[in-house]
Amino acid sequence: PSLVKSHQKAARKPSRGQPAGERTRQRGRRFTIDDFEIGCPLGKGKFGNVYRARHFIVALKVLFQSRIEKEGLGHQLRGETEIQAHLQHHNILRLYNCFHDARRVYLILEYAPRGKLYKELQKSHMFDKLCTATVMEELADALTYCHDKKVIHRDIKPENLVLGLMGEVKMADFGWSVHIPSLRRKTMCGTLDYLPLEMIEGKTYNEKVDLWCLGVLCYELLVGNPPFESASHSETYRRILKVDVRFPASIPLGARDLISRLLRYQPSEWLLLAQVLKHPWVRAPSRR
Ligand code: AMP
Repeated sequence: PSLVKSHQKAARKPSRGQPAGERTRQRGRRFTIDDFEIGCPLGKGKFGNVYRARHFIVALKVLFQSRIEKEGLGHQLRGETEIQAHLQHHNILRLYNCFHDARRVYLILEYAPRGKLYKELQKSHMFDKLCTATVMEELADALTYCHDKKVIHRDIKPENLVLGLMGEVKMADFGWSVHIPSLRRKTMCGTLDYLPLEMIEGKTYNEKVDLWCLGVLCYELLVGNPPFESASHSETYRRILKVDVRFPASIPLGARDLISRLLRYQPSEWLLLAQVLKHPWVRAPSRR
């Protein structure tokens, strides 16, 4: 935020003797694309492109309104930006601001120098124990913060996680997240391999669905593919419903224990976030 603030100050520095009313008006001015000098492209997404902004260390996500409207996702995007803008945690990608013009929506995001976790996973195929346990700890911490604020992410997977300068994981893409003041949700969403059985069965669910995804992620990071991955969608559904998890011999016993306590048929038996943080396998290599 300090970067954006200093940018705001630099761009709007009032000339000496400027009336106070004018200064206030400038401070409240919204960003436009003219405030930014676009740097190198960082990547392409489904709805637009992401660029490094020059002079400020931020990423600028440029989304095409036409593509968003075509998919009927305007409402979801508004929800996503609203939620992400209010979250401030070391392991959650900051959304500093957003603005739009006639054709595009611009999101000013924290720059994640090491890009998507998904790409790292593709490169190395799997993560070692230390990295995986650290990711689990960081995400459990970030989710504790979200759940305290009644926000559930609902779509935790390698594609929606980015890496900071020191390799710390940051939750991004709050596209499927919801704010639940008290309601329990019934919508089916998320990604097939990570779909919690509560959602498949059309049952009401609560913030615990993020714990299921944490279990799936832990398995995928250690093994290189998600636990229920199958040749067909129907087979994946069937395996999720049976909680058919097969552990290769290479999975450490502690990780096996953690994953099997997160992937259970009865959500009441799933570990709580506080228990994940205290789990011996998560704590052992912890930097804390
Ligand atoms: P997305 O539209 O979120 O899928 O992003 C497309 C690509 O842009 C990703 O694969 C990343 O390589 C890059 N990217 C997205 N957000 C950021 C960010 N905050 N910092 C750095 N690179 C990013």
